[in-house]
Amino acid sequence: MADCIFCKIASGEIPAATVWEDDRTVAFLDINPLAEGHLLVAPKAHAERLTDLDPDAAAALFRRAPVLAAAVVAAVGAEGFNILQNNGSCAGQAVEHVHVHIIPRRPGDGLGYRWPAQPADPEALNRLREAVQRTMKAGG
Ligand code: AMP
Ligand code: ZN
Repeated sequence: MADCIFCKIASGEIPAATVWEDDRTVAFLDINPLAEGHLLVAPKAHAERLTDLDPDAAAALFRRAPVLAAAVVAAVGAEGFNILQNNGSCAGQAVEHVHVHIIPRRPGDGLGYRWPAQPADPEALNRLREAVQRTMKAGG
């Protein structure tokens, strides 16, 4: 993708603070971090959303993510981390090239994490469970 900033980072056309790469995946520090060590992990081949990734690219991405998370958490002396992965502008995706955020966390860092969840109706959960299962069967 000619205009994609993460494709340009993956190919080395523009610089980034790359901490790890192989032929399929690249990990680099976020230029506008939520916390020290905020890392992005992306497939090198362009895909917009997680659901656009081929299974091998998805496996490569998530095979490496735990290793990278452990390394960056240790490097910055954090206590935990969040994984964030946005798909679509309604979900906060600004860069339309799939990527996983690894955000180191410390007690009292003020970032928060709670979204306003509401208790579900058990019958609605059951209907949804069946609907999702039907959809997966139809899609193979
Ligand atoms: P998202 O909202 O999930 O699409 O997140 C995109 C992230 O990419 C943001 O956290 C940006 O700060 C980060 N970002 C954008 N451009 C660059 C860049 N050139 N190098 C590193 N991180 C970037
Ligand atoms: Zn791209």
